[in-house]
Amino acid sequence: MTVHAASAEIASLDTQFAQLDLAGRLSLAATLGHAVLTTSLGIEDQVITAAIGTHRLPIEVSTLQTGRLFKETVDLIAETEERYQLSIRRFHPEQDDIDAYAAKHGLNGFYESIEARHACCHVRKLIPLAKALGGAEVWITGLRRGQSGNRATTPFVEFDAERSMLKVNPLADWDIDTIKLHVARNAIPVNPLHARGYPSIGCEPCTRAIKPGESERAGRWWWENDEKRECGLHVAEQPASENAQNATAIVNHRA
Ligand code: SF4
Repeated sequence: MTVHAASAEIASLDTQFAQLDLAGRLSLAATLGHAVLTTSLGIEDQVITAAIGTHRLPIEVSTLQTGRLFKETVDLIAETEERYQLSIRRFHPEQDDIDAYAAKHGLNGFYESIEARHACCHVRKLIPLAKALGGAEVWITGLRRGQSGNRATTPFVEFDAERSMLKVNPLADWDIDTIKLHVARNAIPVNPLHARGYPSIGCEPCTRAIKPGESERAGRWWWENDEKRECGLHVAEQPASENAQNATAIVNHRA
C-alpha cells in the first residue's frame, strides 16, 4: 500500500466518523483496535466518559494524576466512577523524576521559561501518558476545533506519528454550547470550576479563569506569549514524510 493509499484510508475513516453520533463514533473507534480515552476530567472528557459508561463500550478510561491538579478535579474521578460504574486508571509521575526536576528548576520552575515548563509537563504528563497508552492502538481524546486557533483543524481521526497509533477526536465538531446542552440534558457530572470561569482545566498552578472575550484555553500557561502553547500531549514532532510512512505501516498492519 502506498503512502497515498494510507492517507486515503484515514480520510475515508474521517468521513465515516463525521456521519455518526457520539456513541457511533466511539463504537467505530473501538473496532479499530485497543482503545484508550485519556481524560483530564474536563467537560469534553466527561461527555465521552459518560457515553462509554452509558453504552458499556469496550474503551479503557485513564487519567494522568500529575500531582498538581485542583482538588475539584481529583474529587470528580471517584464521582464519575460511581456514576457510570467504571474504573478510571490513574497514572502518576515517578518521584525520582519530580525530585530531579525540582533540584534543577525548583518545584515551580515552570514559570521561569518555556523550556522549564515543558520539562515539568514531560515529567508529570508525557511520561505517565506513555504508560497510559502502553499497548493501545487507538487514543481517544476530547479535542475540539473550537477550543483554540491551534486546534481549529482537528480531524475526527488522524495518525499520531509520535506514538504510532490512531488518534480519534469524536467531539472535533462539537461547539461549547452543544457540549453544555448535552451535559445538562444528561445530568453529566462536571468540574465545578467550569462554572467559575475555567473552561479548560489543567494543573492548578498553571490554570487561571479566563476573561470575557478570551479563547477557551487562554487560562492555560497564561504567562507565556505563544498563542500555540500546549503541554506536548497533542503536538507532533516528526516531519510529515515520516508521519506518512508510519501511517502506511499501521494501516498495512491493520489490513
Ligand atoms: S501544567 Fe504546569 S504543573 Fe502541570 S505538568 Fe505542566 S508545567 Fe507542570
